[in-house]
Amino acid sequence: MERIITMLASGLLREEDTQRPPSEKRWDMVRRWLLVCESEHQTCSHNRRTNSGGDPWFPSRLIDVRSTTGDDGHERYLLIETATTRPEGSRYLTLSHVWGSAREDQQPAYRTLRHNYGDRTNPAIGIRRDELPPCFVDAIDVTKKLGEHYIWIDSLCIVQDNDRDWEVEAGRMSDVYRNSYCSLSATASSSSRDRFPALDERIQEPRFVNTAWGGRYQGMYQIFDPSFWLDRVTSTKLASRGWVFQERALAPRIVHFGVDQLLWECAEFEAAEEFPVGVPRRFISSGRRGFKWQFNLAGSPTSDSGVAETEAEPRSAPLQLHAMWSAALDNYTQCELTKGTDKLVAISGVARVLADQFRDQYLAGLWQSNLVGGLCWRVSGMRRATQELVPVGGYARRWETSRRASPPAPYLAPSWSWASVDGCVVPGPFLSAGEGGGHGSTRSLVAVTAVVAEPETLDNAFGAVKPAAEMRVQGTMYRLVATESEPPFSHISLRYAAGVGSAGIVSVHLDQPEPLEALITAWFLPVLLAERHVVAEPADTVVKEVVQKAANQPQRPVSESWRAKLKRKGKGLLKRDASKQAELEREPTPASSAAAGNTAAANAAPAGESSAMGLIVVPTDDGRAYRRVGFHECPGHILETLGQGSGDSCATGEFVLV
Ligand SMILES: [Zn+2]
Repeated sequence: MERIITMLASGLLREEDTQRPPSEKRWDMVRRWLLVCESEHQTCSHNRRTNSGGDPWFPSRLIDVRSTTGDDGHERYLLIETATTRPEGSRYLTLSHVWGSAREDQQPAYRTLRHNYGDRTNPAIGIRRDELPPCFVDAIDVTKKLGEHYIWIDSLCIVQDNDRDWEVEAGRMSDVYRNSYCSLSATASSSSRDRFPALDERIQEPRFVNTAWGGRYQGMYQIFDPSFWLDRVTSTKLASRGWVFQERALAPRIVHFGVDQLLWECAEFEAAEEFPVGVPRRFISSGRRGFKWQFNLAGSPTSDSGVAETEAEPRSAPLQLHAMWSAALDNYTQCELTKGTDKLVAISGVARVLADQFRDQYLAGLWQSNLVGGLCWRVSGMRRATQELVPVGGYARRWETSRRASPPAPYLAPSWSWASVDGCVVPGPFLSAGEGGGHGSTRSLVAVTAVVAEPETLDNAFGAVKPAAEMRVQGTMYRLVATESEPPFSHISLRYAAGVGSAGIVSVHLDQPEPLEALITAWFLPVLLAERHVVAEPADTVVKEVVQKAANQPQRPVSESWRAKLKRKGKGLLKRDASKQAELEREPTPASSAAAGNTAAANAAPAGESSAMGLIVVPTDDGRAYRRVGFHECPGHILETLGQGSGDSCATGEFVLV
């Protein structure tokens, strides 16, 4: 029992635990996870928001779980207004759950509405336990079990038939989850009518076996399932819900009620009944840290306790914001929303926290500090776990599932924002607006002169935007010519109007399937140029190679700032840029993913060459502006050839993107 002894030594299990009834052992374990997280995890202990008087922040309403029994013998809980009834202590829990897809789940009887609000907040009446769905009853019981008094549950604490109340409270959602002590997550339930599974079952103990073989590998081993975390947390219905993404990202710590056991998740630690001292990292995610570590919104960008500390090299604040936002988009755009119009609203809590933390301006889903890089998102070939493959021409084409909102559908976002598309999105690269207009080896090819992105409601500057949103950019566009008629695939073949020898055919990543006719007057608007280097050797070899390349092949557009930085700072800087570059190289690029068939000739940018990324745009019906329909990447040197084309094959000036 070597492992058990280790657990005893680490303080996660105590001798007397073995004597406790199984159900109690489970709660002792959760209490201990909470204790360790609070007292030992620097990354998890963020500065909780306080009011001006230094009092802890509370949501407008909470459920007081200390029940009373009414005259009728029914157990009742009180809905309190925290502005008038000061909660005891400073803590409250939250619940993350799926409402359910059945009709009765969308308009459930247990909701707080204008007509029952008075009763629910009246200490003499309150909310009857038997009116509540099993999921809420379990959440209330667990809250009590953990010694806490208050829990926040969306459909009870927001007046559901009061639009004004909903808008105000939904705008506070980021604070509600972020300031909570812990979130209880009904991870294995598919509706609020489900109970938390596994609560009545025996606690799942770690399973050990003693090997029968001898020799070097003889010993005690723990048995586990490699998809342990994936099946119980990552690939659940709850985790696929758009609104739940930010609840999970913002809550400092989460107890998941999994299909067969309780699981723990915070920025520094993942555990489960079977793995009380930690789930092996390699079963959480391959090569990367866990979900909550990626969205550790706790530390300030400059503080030692923030994300920067855990990186090999400290990163600049905009770059750190970019890394976190990219991870957020990668996760969030894989989730589904019941109401498509919630696209910007359901991630607005995370955006709000990042804007505060990094003091950056948020514009319809993009950040001021990386506007040009932010334009270079593309729809990924990846499909959502819940989506079916779409059969097209004898093949199942999974990327056909992306859809762009267009009239008569309600307006979601400007076409240059990822939020205008319902589909999995690969975020663009990082490009700072700093010295020389570029970071490392990436530089801008356009100047953004104005962005208009007015919020739909004043209560949520990070939510939906008004339809008049637009961006003005100065740059050069190159005309594309439709070449062949194909079914409306997301990848489509066009030709540069200027022609670049045999490499004229280009493969375009469309944001949604479009017929070729829709692209009769399409333009390529390159917005950034990225250098690509193979970084496999030690840094000093790379220094030599890059310098040689710059010397021997001056026609290749190695950016001035890159060369100057190499000379000025030498290896140290290159190492850092090189590691960033290596990160970029690992990402599947549109060029490499399109490198199939004969249309890829003009698209694959070999290592060591620059690569131009930009938007495929078409004029709007009134001809006043352009709207994005896709993304394109080509070798940087092609731009020079395109620029030499005839007068109508390229256009330079200021363009309005809507
Ligand atoms: Zn923690």
